Amino acid sequence: MRIAELTCYIVRVPLRRVIRHASATRCESTNLLVRCRLANGIEGWGEGVPRDYVTGETPEGALDQFGQTPLERQLCASPTRWSEVIELCGAFQPSVPCDDPRGCRSNSLRCAVELAILDAYGRLFAEPISTVTRHFPPARSISHERREVRYSTTITAESAFAECRSALKMRCYGFQQCKVKVGLAGADDARRLRRIRLCLGSRVDIRIDANESWHADKLAAAVEPLLRYRISCLEQPVPHAELDSLAEVRTRLAVPIMLDESLTSMADAQRATAVRACDLFNIRLSKCGGFLNSLRLAAEASAHGLGYQLGCHPGETGILSAAGRHWATSVSNIRYLEGSYDRHVLRELLTNEDITFAYGGRAPALESPGSGVHVNPEVLARWTIRELKRPLA
Ligand SMILES: [Mg+2]
Repeated sequence: MRIAELTCYIVRVPLRRVIRHASATRCESTNLLVRCRLANGIEGWGEGVPRDYVTGETPEGALDQFGQTPLERQLCASPTRWSEVIELCGAFQPSVPCDDPRGCRSNSLRCAVELAILDAYGRLFAEPISTVTRHFPPARSISHERREVRYSTTITAESAFAECRSALKMRCYGFQQCKVKVGLAGADDARRLRRIRLCLGSRVDIRIDANESWHADKLAAAVEPLLRYRISCLEQPVPHAELDSLAEVRTRLAVPIMLDESLTSMADAQRATAVRACDLFNIRLSKCGGFLNSLRLAAEASAHGLGYQLGCHPGETGILSAAGRHWATSVSNIRYLEGSYDRHVLRELLTNEDITFAYGGRAPALESPGSGVHVNPEVLARWTIRELKRPLA
């Protein structure tokens, strides 16, 4: 079955409240959606979240890439099984009109197109997207089916009162893991963590994310006062440009280091492992160029004895939440899992299905064909700010 048409949308997703961390503040998220229509009319949906401070991508730039890529030539195959769908996804090579040494400047578009293709063919084959993992040879070492996963929660920088209220709510909700955003200018992170640890109790696993806000030469001094609150992991403490210095400092820190902004592609992963810059990867489907590239990165981490988490971008809709669920329920040894915040973060759901995690962050595997979620056309029409249709037939 051939792909008959791809349509790319730029949508503005309204959030329930302002989300603030050291690199950005947002009350809405501008995302990329892609619809893949097969020759028999079956449709699949994909999503990407271009963030210029992470991969240098913008929504308009991604739409231009979509318009300039020779899709008719790249996506002309007619897959009949998953191995051929995976080949088709590999044939998609977005046109990137700039230098791209890290291989990340088209990752959100790649993710959106790939997820749309996987969703459409999953519906055609009547199998969930999670099935792809066991058909993808590079993922053989990490493929593992799970019936249920547990999500972590996140505390972003707010007033002391709001942070305590959030932490108490999360404790009551039974979360086992919590990420705290640190490094905002003017914030006393040691005091914040003391309060948050008190409210969350001693049993919750707390990790911190500095979003590149510190510098390698002062890192030990910034981290030391925070360690007494039993921090299990420190995410992206310094800017990507300081990766080599981070590798030197890391051995003197008493906390595992996770890379996020410095981990967007296989080139990044290979550099990180070569200089021994980290203990864990933060893999996010959009940032890392889709479902398959993310599997490759997890396998690479595993091969080097590193851990990995599946992260998310705040403002992802149910399409990326569903894709993340399929990824998480088909991959072994995920150290932390983020995502599926839908109802808690979005002012309105794009999908007919609400797959927000339940009590304790628990969420089941999705077993319906494809992604298992369906886009509400009225919400899509209200959110769309630009649209580009590419017939392939
Ligand atoms: Mg991060």
